[in-house]
Amino acid sequence: MKEILNVSNAVVEYDRQGLKVRAVAGVDLTLNAGEILGLVGESGCGKSTLGKAIVGILKTAHGEIVFDGSQVKKLTRGQRPKHFRNLQMVFQDPYGSLNPRRKIGAQIADGLVVGGSSRKDALHEAQDLLEKVGLPRNAIDRFPHEFSGGQRQRISIARALAAAPTAIVADEPISALDTSSQAQVANLLVNLVEEYDMGMVFISHDLSIVRRISDRVAVMYLGKIVEIGTVDQIWNNPSHPYTRALISAIPHADGTGFMPQDLPGDVPNPMSPPSGCRFHPRCPLAMPECAEIEPAFRTLSDGRSVACHLQTEGSEPVSISIG
Ligand code: SF4
Repeated sequence: MKEILNVSNAVVEYDRQGLKVRAVAGVDLTLNAGEILGLVGESGCGKSTLGKAIVGILKTAHGEIVFDGSQVKKLTRGQRPKHFRNLQMVFQDPYGSLNPRRKIGAQIADGLVVGGSSRKDALHEAQDLLEKVGLPRNAIDRFPHEFSGGQRQRISIARALAAAPTAIVADEPISALDTSSQAQVANLLVNLVEEYDMGMVFISHDLSIVRRISDRVAVMYLGKIVEIGTVDQIWNNPSHPYTRALISAIPHADGTGFMPQDLPGDVPNPMSPPSGCRFHPRCPLAMPECAEIEPAFRTLSDGRSVACHLQTEGSEPVSISIG
């Protein structure tokens, strides 16, 4: 497997009321070609901020994000257009990311023209891409408002594909769609990752979709990854108490997120994160050292990584049972 993305100790900060808040507080992860990495966590845990930092829309304050061999933070003005072609982002709101006054054929063709096609060839290729995402070829002459939400998301995906990217960061790409469109767009993304041998970071609060389409899953809590492993490892034998609570989560009625079961309290304020393990005030298995010592990320014998004092580097995962 070819590694195309390596995130190492990435920190993203923003100012709030004169204070520096760490929305992403030291994240490590990798992405391979042809792989879908699901990124999950409660609302406000920093997953969208991390996605934007990976793409280069937000700057990291510390750490490194290396994509296709180049450090994202150090890209020169001349290198950035190529980077943004190779690493595309698909957003939750497809309408907001499309120009309402331009025909969609022209918008898809832009990426192809930048890649070297003539405008005439690009419009023809745009029709091919529309077909690939399940829309009619004659849709090139229509405007974004003439399509449904699911169709607009397909258009944004076609536009992303026009740049022949190496990877896509998809930030809640299906959460604004109706149920049948959600399944169709998720299946489309899976097929495209395979066909184009791309990598994809799939950010979502919809755990059932993440489970269905991802190869690996990273679980994020209050700005940090607490566990990262294969879908089977995460769902069949979670090794972090937060992961255990998460997989029994109940979706919010309004579809905006989920509530992990069997956990006291809410996610703490990132302006003043707890000492030691950030999860300790809510962890049913917390020990005295958890409030003092931050658990290092450790790799277990089955290859997953986890940040919890209950687990030991190189050992079999200790089964977690709560509630
Ligand atoms: Fe719970 Fe301690 Fe593990 Fe944190 S380090 S998840 S508080 S047991």
